[in-house]
Amino acid sequence: MKITLKNCYLFILSFLVVLFASCSVTDSRYERLLGTVCFVNLYESGKENIYDEIFERLRQIDDEFDLFQPQSDLYRINAFSDERPVLVSDDVFTVLEMSQKVSALTNGAFDITVEPLVALWRITSDTPHVAEQYEIDQILPLVDYRNVILNPQDKSVQFTKKGMKIDLGGIAKGYAANEVVRICKKYKVRRAVIDLGGNVYVYGKKKKSGLWNVGIKNPEHPDMAPLVKLTLPEISVVTSGIYERYFETKEKLYHHILSPSSGYPVDNELNSVSVISEDSMLADALTTAFFVLGRKESMKIIPSLREYFGVQIEAVFIQKNHNIFFTKKFPYKYTVLYEDWHSASD
Ligand code: ADP
Ligand code: MG
Repeated sequence: MKITLKNCYLFILSFLVVLFASCSVTDSRYERLLGTVCFVNLYESGKENIYDEIFERLRQIDDEFDLFQPQSDLYRINAFSDERPVLVSDDVFTVLEMSQKVSALTNGAFDITVEPLVALWRITSDTPHVAEQYEIDQILPLVDYRNVILNPQDKSVQFTKKGMKIDLGGIAKGYAANEVVRICKKYKVRRAVIDLGGNVYVYGKKKKSGLWNVGIKNPEHPDMAPLVKLTLPEISVVTSGIYERYFETKEKLYHHILSPSSGYPVDNELNSVSVISEDSMLADALTTAFFVLGRKESMKIIPSLREYFGVQIEAVFIQKNHNIFFTKKFPYKYTVLYEDWHSASD
């Protein structure tokens, strides 16, 4: 979904449907950053200084991660890292380190070096392109996270192949959500809802029950009532779906999650994947990785991912055949809100 200022209002409306975290939104603030609409509600008035700091920080992250702004870290990486090491900010280095870990643990399903493929397909642009096999074949040798060399001593990044480029679109919003939470903690904010284009973080305790209701969109009707209602304590819920950013020809729908091995948009049983974790950056990368791996492979590696990262990782896989799979012993209350969709288990 391409979001312009014009349809910001519509977006917020659809957000309210998706996240029926209730409470009032009178004191919320939103801004278009990180290629999406960033929405924060602190549920209290007189918090202008905290909002200011949050949005200042989001603007800073946006500046560092902007692919097209010549001053940005990401621009400099893509322009020069195939020739020499490029020094980057702590923010970008942290995200690169997490990206590399997730790549290694998902057998390369998550791979930030997909950028040349993203640029070939241009799926989220006004001029998308159905790539030819020969074009993909030319680009695939550039796609391999193992050819990204990170040096923690001087926080530099270098590529081992000429022409390589990276895209952090599958992880940056999760990092930003974590940073908003860090600011909320610093100011001892009591409760907040953060939604950075599908990267949702419900923070603190909601009034009365202490639990939040977070909806997962119906992939077939993203603007209607949510498909699944989750009832959760403080946690992040990140969703990646094929219905958000895509283009369609007469024959086929092409969406924005690409298989680093085939070079094509992933075409499997899935409509969307949601990951629930206290680490929104990890959850963001994992939604993309799980989408590429498919449900069965993802379910197999979740226990080892939990062990490695030492955080909670739960997932909801929404399939094209209307089955909804939850991780084993899913610890949260959930309700499926449409009669023709069903929760299922292996
Ligand atoms: P969204 O940005 O809509 O929330 P994702 O978190 O799944 O969705 O990120 C998708 C974005 O990540 C794409 O637009 C592209 O920039 C990048 N990307 C696509 N495929 C991959 C992949 N296999 N690994 C890492 N990043 C990817
Ligand atoms: Mg992601």
